[in-house]
This record gives sequence, C-alpha cells and structure tokens, in this order.
Amino acid sequence: MPELPEMEIVARRLGSVLPGETVESALAPGINALKTFDPPLHALDGRSFTGVRRRGKLLALELGELVLLTHLMSAGRLQLHPKRATLRDRTSRLLVRLDGERELRVREFGTKQAAWVKLLRAEEVDADESFAKLGPEAWPDPPPLRELLDRPRPLHSLLRDQQVITGIGRTWVDDILNVARLSPFKRGDDLSGDEAEALRAAMVSELGRVIGVYEQQVDIPLPEKFPKPTRVHAHQGEPCPQCGTLLEAVFYEDYVMSYCPRDQTDGRVLKDRRLSRLLK
Ligand SMILES: [Zn+2]
Repeated sequence: MPELPEMEIVARRLGSVLPGETVESALAPGINALKTFDPPLHALDGRSFTGVRRRGKLLALELGELVLLTHLMSAGRLQLHPKRATLRDRTSRLLVRLDGERELRVREFGTKQAAWVKLLRAEEVDADESFAKLGPEAWPDPPPLRELLDRPRPLHSLLRDQQVITGIGRTWVDDILNVARLSPFKRGDDLSGDEAEALRAAMVSELGRVIGVYEQQVDIPLPEKFPKPTRVHAHQGEPCPQCGTLLEAVFYEDYVMSYCPRDQTDGRVLKDRRLSRLLK
C-alpha cells in the first residue's frame, strides 16, 4: 500500500479540488525526500494547480510548466488538510501551503524513508527514469497478458514488477491471483491462453472493485489509513471467497502472501518460509 487503486482515488479526489488553487509556499522537511534541486521548490510560489495525473503508483501534480511528481512507496500518505500543520512532525516529507488555510502534505510512516518527490519541468516528466521505465497500466485496460508475462518468473513477482505491468503491489496481487485461480508460483511463461485471459479479467475486475469501494468511502482530506477491502491478502485462516476453503499463507520477512490451496495450488500447502527458517 498504496497501490494503483489507492493512488487512483487520491488522483480523482485531488483532481476535483486542486486545479485553480494557488501555492503560497512549499517546504520539504524530509532530508531525503526531495530528489531534485532544479527548479528549486520556491519556483512553486504563486503558481496554480492545473491538473492531477496518475501513472501506475505515481502521482503527478501539475502546475502549468512545473510538475510535482511523487511516489509514496509503501508507507507514504498524501493528504489535503483544511488547516496548516502547527507542528512540523517527523513524518512530514513535503508541505505545500495553499492560499487560504489548506495544506497539501506528504507524510511517511514507519522507519524507512523511501517516499520521494521530484519537482520537474512538464516536458521532463515522461523522460524521467521513474516514468520512462514503467510498463503498461494494470487498470482499466491492460494489454493481453500471454505475451506480456512470457517470462520464466513466478506470477507473484512478475505482476509486482512495475517495468512489466504497473500499478500492482503486495496487497492486490493476492486478491487478483485468487480470483484468477492461479498459483502465485506459476511461471509467467507457463500461462495458457485461457489462464492469461482469466488473469487479465481478474486484474481489471479486482482493481475496479477496490476503486469502487474507495469511491464510496474515501474523501478529502484523504485518509491516513485507507479502508482495506481485501478478501484474500492477509486473510489466512479465513474462508476463501471463491470456495470456502481456509486460506493459507507464506510469510516473508516483511510481507505475507495469501492464497487458497484448493483454487490456486492443486491442494498443496506451500512451505511457510518463516517456519522453514526456524527449523534449519
Ligand atoms: Zn478457494
């Protein structure tokens, strides 16, 4: 988190209120968050927002000739607060003060400082390395997947590779693979034509379902914690939404991969990496 559905709703909500708003001043309290120095941040002063665009998990806040590009990584949040922060708290990475009282804040929770912001000239955005390498969008209209995923790598990692297809991360990959009834360990180059079509359909329907939930539940100022309409990811021990079998999981160091053994792995319960490490 946040992945494509979260950034899509952020883009929609900000896109409906930011255009026309003028920047009074901007500040980057996070030492490492701002990745560019030319143009300087104060070049934003007095400029008005003209649009908001999402690409994969990236968000581009457009201000005429300048673009604030941001990637929240796994623990960042972007919020539009009705009032300015009185304290410069440790989670703040970027503060954009608007005329009036409102303030746009990029904050980051957890120990890692990974979220970043770039201030670019509009013509530089598409060529920026963060943009240029991205694969096609996973939603709303991804290309046929048989060819796109024709690589000797497991689906769970392939679908999260932003250069292959962009927008999916550790949360929604589990729900997508469950709906498609495919093993997270099945290799991309082992997909049949039918499986590739089922996967594409699951991708479109699941990401669309989640965005639909957020349309109902998420509004400005944008949440610090998003609702989690997951049905499979991190639901191990609960019934599979497709067949009712209890979901299983493989635990990695900092995330969990959840799946249905009946629908996805031919009844096999895959090794729990956490347990196998303890048994060594
Ligand atoms: Zn199932």
